[in-house]
Amino acid sequence: AAIDAIHAKEEKVNSFVTVDEEAALKKAEEVQKLIDEGKLTGPLAGVPVAIKDNMCTEGMLTTCSSRILYNFIPTFTAEAVKRLEDAGAVIIGKTNMDEFAMGSTTETSAYGATKNPWNTEHVPGGSSGGSCAAVAAEEVPYALGSDTGGSIRQPSSFCGVTGIKPTYGTVSRYGLIAYGSSLDQIGPIAKDVTDCATILECIAAHDTKDSTSVLREDLKFTEALVDDVKGMKIGIPRDYFGEGLDPEVKKAVLDAAKELEKKGAVVEEFDLGLVEYAIPAYYVIACAEASSNLARFDGVKYGYRTSEYEELHNMYKKTRSEGFGPEVKRRIMLGSFVLSSGYYDAYYLKALRVKALIKKAFDEAFAKYDVILGPAAPTTAPKLGQSLSDPIKMYLGDIYTISVNLAGLPGISLPCGMDSKGLPIGLQLIGDCFKEKNIIRAAYSFE
Ligand code: GLN
Repeated sequence: AAIDAIHAKEEKVNSFVTVDEEAALKKAEEVQKLIDEGKLTGPLAGVPVAIKDNMCTEGMLTTCSSRILYNFIPTFTAEAVKRLEDAGAVIIGKTNMDEFAMGSTTETSAYGATKNPWNTEHVPGGSSGGSCAAVAAEEVPYALGSDTGGSIRQPSSFCGVTGIKPTYGTVSRYGLIAYGSSLDQIGPIAKDVTDCATILECIAAHDTKDSTSVLREDLKFTEALVDDVKGMKIGIPRDYFGEGLDPEVKKAVLDAAKELEKKGAVVEEFDLGLVEYAIPAYYVIACAEASSNLARFDGVKYGYRTSEYEELHNMYKKTRSEGFGPEVKRRIMLGSFVLSSGYYDAYYLKALRVKALIKKAFDEAFAKYDVILGPAAPTTAPKLGQSLSDPIKMYLGDIYTISVNLAGLPGISLPCGMDSKGLPIGLQLIGDCFKEKNIIRAAYSFE
C-alpha cells in the first residue's frame, strides 16, 4: 500500500530521494514470516517507514540531499534505524531534506524541492521536509527526522503532522551524518502523539557508540499517553508572542492553551528572556560545528570527486566547490571564520556563553512549570521560492525552535488548527531535560 501511495503521489510531492521497492518487499515478506511464526510481535512489526537521507543505511544510498554524496552507499546502518529494523520495521526509502540539514524549506536539496502536500505551491518546511511531507501525504505512516535547530518540529508544523525532538543524548547519533554534533537529535514524525511515543520508545536507548548518549532509566514513553492534565503547570512565554508572529498562528496557539486550561491545567504567562539572542548564538555554534564536520568530504574518502584537477589541494578545492551547494558553502565559510584565531573569543566563545545563559533561563522556568507552550513557527508554510533569496529571513523563522536545541531540551510539535489559506498551524510544547513524558501527556490530552 505504501509503494502504491508513493507511485500515486511522488510526482507531485517529491518526498523521497531514494525508494527501494525490491528491498522493502523482500523485508516485508521476511517480517511477515516471523510474525506468522510468533517470533516478532510489537507495534512496529511490518509497518513501513521512511528515513531522512542523513541517516546511514547499509546498502542503501545516503546522500544528505547533496551532490557531494550522490553515490555514497554506507557499509553500516545508523543505530536508531537499526533499532527500528530489529522491531520489524520495513524501510521503504530515504527522504529528501535540505542539503546536510541546512535550511528550513527543503529547497536547498540537490535533488529538487519537496512540496507541501496541503498545497503544492508551498514549502513543507525543513530540513526534514521530505519525512514530514511523506507522512502528511500518507505515503508512509511514519518517518524519522533529525532536529538540530527545529528540523523536526518546524516541518511537522507546516505539514500538519506530529514530531518529537527528544532530549539531547536520548537517541543515538551513531550513523547520523553530523551537522551540529552538540545539537543534533533524531526523532519520530507521525500522524499523532501515540505513534510518536511508540516510535520514540523503540529508538531511544543508551549506545556506547555515541559518546554523548545518556544512560536513562525511564524510556517507557507510551506510559505518558494519558488524557489528564489536571494540575499540570503550563507556562506561556510572552517573548514568543511578540512582533513577527502571524495573528492566525497566535490565535490558534492561545486557543490550544485555553483548551488545556479547561481540562484542568494551570496556565500562566511569564518572561523567558534572551529570545533575541538565540538565533545569532545558534548560527554561530551550528556553523562552527558544521565547518569542522564537513571537512571530511574532500573527494578522497566518499562520494563525489571532481573529474579534472592538477594536484591534491586543487582536487579538494574543485571537489568541494562543485559538490556543495550555496547554503552549505555559506555556513562552512561562516563557521571557519568564527573559529579562526582572533575571532574565536569574540564569536564562538561568546555564543557558547549565550547558550549557557539560555539553558539557565529554561532551568528557572522549569522550576515553576512542567511544560512551556508556544508556536512552533511564526507563520504557516511560505510559498516555494521565497526564502532562498534571503537567508537571514529564513534564519529568523527558527526563533521558537532553536533555543530548545541550545538547551538540549525535548520538544514536540503537533497540529492545532488551520489558517485561512488552508495550511496547518503547529503547537509546540517544550519540556525540561528528560521530561518527554510531560510534553507527551499534555500533547495527548490536547489532541
Ligand atoms: N533551519 C535550521 C538550520 O538551517 C534547521 C536545522 C536543523 O534542525 N537541521 O540550521
